[in-house]
Amino acid sequence: MTLVARHAALTDIGLHRRSNEDRFIVAPPLFAVCDGMGGAEAGEVAAGLAVETLAARFAAGEGIVAAARAANAAVYARASERREESGMGTTLTALVVDEDQGHFAHVGDSRAYRLRDGVLEQLSADHSLVGEMVREGRLTPEEAAAHPHRSVLSRALGTEAEVEIDRFSVDLRSGDVLLLCSDGLTSEVSDDEIREMLGAATPAEAARALVDAARAAGGHDNVTVVVIRIEEGGETDASADSGAADVRGADVRGGEGAAATGAAAPAAPVAAAPSKTPAPRAARRRLITLVVVLALVALLGLAGVVVVNTCYFVGVDDGTLAVYSGLPWSIGPLELHSIYLRSTRPYVLLDESERALVDAHEIHSKDEALRLAEELGMVP
Ligand code: CA
Repeated sequence: MTLVARHAALTDIGLHRRSNEDRFIVAPPLFAVCDGMGGAEAGEVAAGLAVETLAARFAAGEGIVAAARAANAAVYARASERREESGMGTTLTALVVDEDQGHFAHVGDSRAYRLRDGVLEQLSADHSLVGEMVREGRLTPEEAAAHPHRSVLSRALGTEAEVEIDRFSVDLRSGDVLLLCSDGLTSEVSDDEIREMLGAATPAEAARALVDAARAAGGHDNVTVVVIRIEEGGETDASADSGAADVRGADVRGGEGAAATGAAAPAAPVAAAPSKTPAPRAARRRLITLVVVLALVALLGLAGVVVVNTCYFVGVDDGTLAVYSGLPWSIGPLELHSIYLRSTRPYVLLDESERALVDAHEIHSKDEALRLAEELGMVP
């Protein structure tokens, strides 16, 4: 019996971002998703360079882990050359389908799932701060999903000369459906919903449903999905469903929709990190949020809203440090702060004590906050 992989891929800019920093590869037997991060256009550069390097090295005969290492080196080299791109990085979740085996290379918080007999299993570990806190038992998965820093990566491709790459393999059999996706999906859509939608008749239908669900839930981030269905079959099937061609950055960016895939070479936009706000998952949470917000608003009114304009703190925006004015709380869709000063200093490059300073979200006067910013290397 021969197994074939039918597939479909879709990427979408979402409803709030100005660019799509996600990229994907659909070049059977190689599939991948990259979610770039970094200021300005750097996230797109990082993710683009990663998929190009990965695809080229794999095509040249290297294994995916070696090819992923080469991608890390390529992104890191470029980031080291250009100041405006320093600190950029990307996630990478790559899969090679080899008969009845799926081999993965993985860094970051994009995810790989397998749906088998109606059971959805997350195959990859999230290399994010909240992911680590969940593994250490300090957060529940539900708390992690709503955490304001859930997009901050603890490990990324391209931010350092060497990176530890997770490698793992799973067995595959007819009927299995694999999903590679960026966090723009998983921060909006629950695993239960993903399980349901992955069960669709075709990969194309599943991909469409997943992207539509992420947009319907708020579309705070770019979202990318690659769906692969393992079937018994004859010829290798490159037909996939979505017909669409491989989409590159510019195309995707403009459109409100999709990119697609095919059998094509590397490709489409992907990835990015951070800063979405809330992705309420349940009406109950929305209700609680509303109550809390109302209570807070009342409280703030009493305390004097003036406070908000005299308070500053250092935090993280889209993976890089920023000074905020206001209070370090974000409840539901209501943010009690706004960015006062941006920087290109990536959070992932901080050492532990520096991270602690940032994570503390201590409230400062403006002068104190700016002094801290200088201490953290945010001021050039
Ligand atoms: Ca993202």
